Amino acid sequence: MKYLSTRGDSPQLGFSDILLGGLMQDGGLSLPAEYPRITDAELTAMRSMSYAELAFTILSKFATDIPVEDLRALTAKTYTAQVYCNGRPDSDASQITPLRKLENNLFLQELSNGPTLAFKDMAMQLLGNLFEYVLAKRGEEINILGATSGDTGSAAEYAMRGKHGVRVFMLSPRENMSAFQRAQMYSLQDANIFNIAVRGMFDDAQDIVKAVSNDLAFKAQYKIGAVNSINWGRVAAQVIYYFKGWLSATTGNDQEVSFAVPSGNFGNICAGHIVRQMGLPIRKLILATNENDVLDEFFRTGAYKPRKTVDVKVTSSPSMDISKASNFERFVYDLVGRDPKVVAELWRAVDGGGQFDLAGTQFWARIKDFGFVSGASSHADRLATIRRVYKDHGLMIDTHTADGLKVALEHRDTDIPTIVLETALPAKFEETIIEALGEKPWRPTSMQNIEALPQRVEVMDIDVQAVKDFIAARSGG
Ligand SMILES: *Cc1c(COP(=O)(O)O)cnc(C)c1O
Repeated sequence: MKYLSTRGDSPQLGFSDILLGGLMQDGGLSLPAEYPRITDAELTAMRSMSYAELAFTILSKFATDIPVEDLRALTAKTYTAQVYCNGRPDSDASQITPLRKLENNLFLQELSNGPTLAFKDMAMQLLGNLFEYVLAKRGEEINILGATSGDTGSAAEYAMRGKHGVRVFMLSPRENMSAFQRAQMYSLQDANIFNIAVRGMFDDAQDIVKAVSNDLAFKAQYKIGAVNSINWGRVAAQVIYYFKGWLSATTGNDQEVSFAVPSGNFGNICAGHIVRQMGLPIRKLILATNENDVLDEFFRTGAYKPRKTVDVKVTSSPSMDISKASNFERFVYDLVGRDPKVVAELWRAVDGGGQFDLAGTQFWARIKDFGFVSGASSHADRLATIRRVYKDHGLMIDTHTADGLKVALEHRDTDIPTIVLETALPAKFEETIIEALGEKPWRPTSMQNIEALPQRVEVMDIDVQAVKDFIAARSGG
């Protein structure tokens, strides 16, 4: 399997090469040169597989440059009931991503049973093991630099802690995370994890990361890498749980399901799109946004209008607060018939701070073939959905999952299963849960007093040079 760039001007690369890189050489995103198709016999065989075996079977189509016995060992080590078990009541940890039935043909798929209680663990845990493996083979090291407003940073740190050849430097805004999120990250005492709290907002942290990465000499000398949303390894790992959800909800190989996905950077639902292209019978991909509705607007109208950073709304589903969707280019590449010239042209506008509108074009005429529908959710919707689910099913759901469920109910067909992807546990967003229900959400025993643990964090001004010096002093480069 070779990987091309959505902008068509980069040499094709193997899985291990793009795993450690970010953007392709021409500024585009990596995609398989063609999607592997799944046969009926393969689907039948998958029905009796464990999650780890399923992961191996699927990834062996994408990571063809990793010897099969190594890939089998990596997936077996990653997808265990020990890693994806936080002791939540009535959950079947052996399934890794079990379905929870709400009513006839309506399910939640639990993706939040990993160490940081959000779906990002599903992919990031695999990435930790893949990075360590590929770096050891090549005799290389990497310094992962990132900025986080919460979920990504903690998922990356828990996946990379203690891994050989990997250091993590994670910038976060000093004030804007929940006490729980801060405690999750800053209480890690591993020698290869460095938390930097910036005296500023998330965008200030992000700007520092961009400035450091744009210093190509520094980047090369200190082997700076990233594990952000566009990382292909993360998208590939997310493909697995769509298969698992479909397998759990069906008994026949031609049975359709729909998936509803709380979306921000289009990473999660991009995997759903790829699974559909691989031939899994998915009827609808139901995309849900919060008040930051740039993607809902596109799927309703054909116009993609990235917002200015100052126009991003701060919401109670903060992991979906985005100005533009960094993985969206992958879908548009397929929508425009895999023509890199068209994509390069469209993103010339986007990268220049502009927008594009496909309404009325030959491309928009094809949108129906891709199964997407969309909707948006507000703070009031979120509270109402959380309350209804608690009242009707005795179940507390988090704010992002509530956005997904709200939009799912608007678009689902009741004749087939609809699976809402649960992207986090309510414990991560305690304040809003208390606002909705007047009581605290359940927490794993191990996190009962996490806010009281000693914290290890370096507080810094918004100062690019200070961050560079900090990295240089700790990476022996
Ligand atoms: C990251 C995240 C999302 C958004 O996922 P994308 O892949 O960026 O679309 C939704 N919900 C939660 C809880 C998240 O952490």
